[in-house]
Amino acid sequence: MLIKTNSSAESDFTRPYAILIIDDSPEIIRVLGQILSDISTVIFALDGPQGLQKALAEDVDVILLDVEMPGMDGYEVCKRLKADPITKDIPVIFITGRTDAASEVKGLEAGAVDFIGKPLNPPVVRARMITHATKKRQSDMLKNLVNHDGLTGVHSRRFFESQFETEWRRHQRQKLSFAILMIDIDAFKNYNDAYGHLEGDICLRKVANALQSGVRRPGDFVARYGGEEFVAVLPHAIHEDALGLGQLICAEVAKLQIPHSHSSAGSFVSISVGASAMIPADELPPTTLVKYADKALYQAKEGGRNQCVFYFPPEKPKESV
Ligand code: GH3
Ligand code: MG
Ligand code: MG
Ligand code: MG
Repeated sequence: MLIKTNSSAESDFTRPYAILIIDDSPEIIRVLGQILSDISTVIFALDGPQGLQKALAEDVDVILLDVEMPGMDGYEVCKRLKADPITKDIPVIFITGRTDAASEVKGLEAGAVDFIGKPLNPPVVRARMITHATKKRQSDMLKNLVNHDGLTGVHSRRFFESQFETEWRRHQRQKLSFAILMIDIDAFKNYNDAYGHLEGDICLRKVANALQSGVRRPGDFVARYGGEEFVAVLPHAIHEDALGLGQLICAEVAKLQIPHSHSSAGSFVSISVGASAMIPADELPPTTLVKYADKALYQAKEGGRNQCVFYFPPEKPKESV
């Protein structure tokens, strides 16, 4: 499974709450819909499997989940939601006629945050829903801040570190090719010196935007590695994919035609890109791929900048395809 990388800086935290109701009773769905539709967008599902599918597909803030359903019951649905990295952080509130201690414990153990007893009391339903949806929004906003770079809006170094190692291990287990691009703006110190730091920041944002729009296969992402350096992570990519994408983003940045009067690489802002791809061998640490991409970047700089170079490790050239 590919990581979900599109919870981007552009996420709309002002949109109405989205509530998923999973209940086999159309009557309960109708009543809950009435209670909540003026403060949220209501999505519903009439059984567990359909509910799981909607939780994955939609951007959901809270799930109201019936305990007693034929086939897959609410406990099982909740366990599955909590086991999936994409849905595990969505708060689940159980709707149940059983309010005895044992049922409550079972629900909490399955991962629920709260219970609403039947018969439904509208003000209580609304209040509980708003409490949990608000907490979820706040935690999403915090995660978003941590996972994105404040200046450019692309993913942060921290996000890169956390995802990269996981992806490396996954490719290692599945024996799949994994690629990255190390990207560095050419003569950027001179750019700042010539145009000032504020213009430098604007330039960084424009370049980051161009990189972001160039790197768009599902699961791919761009992060700011530091200063004027970026990294693109390309799951399932082989040598040709990495080189092709590296060349494409060089062209995209060149197309911006940002004047640069003090660059040895030309009269516009340009980037150099180091690419590497490999099926991670069992004994190698994740830093191997970064090291190779860094070597490629060095060669791209040495070769005159404004270009992408792919680095084949000399000792085992075949491991990259
Ligand atoms: P090369 O072509 O070899 O990469 O040369 P360079 O000048 O780009 O490389 P160097 O590492 O010497 O300089 C990087 C510059 O990037 C220096 C630093 O002031 C600038 N820089 C780093 N972060 C930022 C930032 O957030 N904003 C601005 N405006 N400049 C930054
Ligand atoms: Mg039921
Ligand atoms: Mg640099
Ligand atoms: Mg540079």
